Amino acid sequence: MKNLFWIGNGKVVLPQGVVQGGSILVENGKIAAINSNCPKGVEVIDAQEGYVLPGFIDIHVHGGGGSDFMDLSEKDVCTVCNTHCAYGTTALVATTMTCSDDLLEDAISCIRSVMKKQTLGAQILGLHLEGPYFAATSKGAQPVKELRIPTRENLEHIIRVAEGSIIRWDAAPELPNMQMFAQVMKENGILCSIAHSGANATITTQAFDWGFSHITHFYNACTTFHKENGIVHSGNIEATYIRPEITIELIGDGRHIPMESMLLAKQIKGADKICIITDAMRAAGTSETVSILGPRNGGTKVVVKDNVAQLPDFSFYAGSIATMDRCLRTAHVYYGIPLNEVSRMLSLTPARLSGVEHCKGSLEVGKDADIVIMDKDFYVQKVFVQGILH
Ligand SMILES: [Zn+2]
Repeated sequence: MKNLFWIGNGKVVLPQGVVQGGSILVENGKIAAINSNCPKGVEVIDAQEGYVLPGFIDIHVHGGGGSDFMDLSEKDVCTVCNTHCAYGTTALVATTMTCSDDLLEDAISCIRSVMKKQTLGAQILGLHLEGPYFAATSKGAQPVKELRIPTRENLEHIIRVAEGSIIRWDAAPELPNMQMFAQVMKENGILCSIAHSGANATITTQAFDWGFSHITHFYNACTTFHKENGIVHSGNIEATYIRPEITIELIGDGRHIPMESMLLAKQIKGADKICIITDAMRAAGTSETVSILGPRNGGTKVVVKDNVAQLPDFSFYAGSIATMDRCLRTAHVYYGIPLNEVSRMLSLTPARLSGVEHCKGSLEVGKDADIVIMDKDFYVQKVFVQGILH
């Protein structure tokens, strides 16, 4: 059956602005025309004066719908993708957390096997390895007993297991062997990101020169202005702000980052250098109040309170329970960032960082028909992945 339909009567969100009464023609899974008249005899989808946006691309997400990418079952991997898809995410980068090498390899193999045959839900673009090379002082909710130092042999082994599907790898640059880490990432075309780091601005800047080019959940588990042995230093945050080429990601759940901090980041970096992420754990898209961060067997017990996952002693947030629609409402409705800029941070910039800007991330002729229709209050009405209604 031919995949051909026309979405009309919507406010179409393009990178440069919002077009009232716009339309999208979809043919064979691709966007065939924008703001055209409806061709004769074509199925019409009425956006009912709501918003028509490019599908969201979440480059940092662990779980949802009660499942986690590290549960080692294909069914659980699909549950995460289907859950986030229902809230407008049409593509994602599957995130693993700090764990043993054996578990990491098993998780990668399981996610890879879903990637090879996936037909439903948010499309897995590749892998994001969050750890295990972090500083114990900035570990957040990452399990301290699995933190370690990288070796070239070890990195190359994991990269081989993943068959070229690692998009990003996070590490703390103040640890030993980090110049080598950045070099291996460069050799393999992997985005090299600073995360869970206790580094001051001098070490952070050194890391940028080695090839680190992104900051994972900026502000969270990052350093700022602080004293070391009686001397004042700047931190990851200031070092990032003065390097315009460095990209960042912000957890958009409205809990991890208060309004002024997100507005400041947007003002300094601009929408083309920021991805909004969920960093969601398995309780996203559920009403669970007690949950597990990381693998179901052996993960960390967390509680969900005030709309965010937290360690039981409330010492750290332990991932969000957000979906990307909530991130959009937070940034646009509550924090007041213009819709087209929020859309860029939810779709276009993450597409670029994931290497799929040529086919995803914006409503442009020739790109995949990954489209979200939202109502006037920004709740999801319909989601299309490559032209297929989900
Ligand atoms: Zn994470």
